[in-house]
Amino acid sequence: MRTLEEKATSEWIRFQEEIGIDILVDGEQYRGDMATYFAENLEGTEISGLVRSYGNRYYKKPIIVDELKRRGPISVDWVHLRPSPDGTTGKGDDHRAVHDDGLVVRRILRFAGGCLPAFAKLLHEEAVALEAAGAKVVQVDEPALSTRLDELPLLVKAVGIVTKGLTAKTVLHTCYGNYNEIFDYFNQLPVDQLDLEMSNSGLDLLERFKREPLKKEIAFGVVDVHSHVIEPESLIRERIEKALTIFSPAKLYIDPDCGLKTRSVEEAQGKLRNMVAAAHAVRKARGLT
Ligand SMILES: [Zn+2]
Repeated sequence: MRTLEEKATSEWIRFQEEIGIDILVDGEQYRGDMATYFAENLEGTEISGLVRSYGNRYYKKPIIVDELKRRGPISVDWVHLRPSPDGTTGKGDDHRAVHDDGLVVRRILRFAGGCLPAFAKLLHEEAVALEAAGAKVVQVDEPALSTRLDELPLLVKAVGIVTKGLTAKTVLHTCYGNYNEIFDYFNQLPVDQLDLEMSNSGLDLLERFKREPLKKEIAFGVVDVHSHVIEPESLIRERIEKALTIFSPAKLYIDPDCGLKTRSVEEAQGKLRNMVAAAHAVRKARGLT
């Protein structure tokens, strides 16, 4: 199984390199479930039966039943995994210049799960280990941010525990739900960048960002991961141009709304190809590097 997971990871990293993505992800091919991966690798947890998350999608819920302990590094191995120049999988330097303009390949490692302080401390240990292993970007996923409004102050604290003292760029991803309800917390979250679903909701939030500026970077979702339709380059380019009416190029990162795991391989690759082509076209037209 591990061999197959490494092969799938390498193939997706190679694909991202081929189409010219600047910040690569490992694809999470080794994670059976979006929420349980970290819990399965910690002591003090049990995994529930199936819980409905979205439409006909289900996941298994981690339950804390005892004192939480980290057995050791959880996802650090995957930072090192990348294809070597001869096409075989190798381990080694994680970051290297890939373009003439000096862009550096970085890995985003995703954390899933709720951020209670005890859990957050363990995630912080993992984040420190990832940084030591060469990760230049560490992303925390908290998809259902807007479903527990009363917990938002606690979440701000917990995210602060995870990101404290990190030198890597820190990102918080959240998606779907009522962003307007949680908008006031966007600037309070102790991360360098917010990664938001924007296209599934028709870029609705742009007007609010115009009135109440975001004081951090934004990763702006330009393809809808819940749609089978592969958005044409022209449409994605329009979305990027709209984003640029609010955000400066230096603070704007382009990405899909969320993870692409519910899409077919063809759909995921098509969306990513068009996304990169659109981003490159906008850069060229505006003379950006
Ligand atoms: Zn998401």
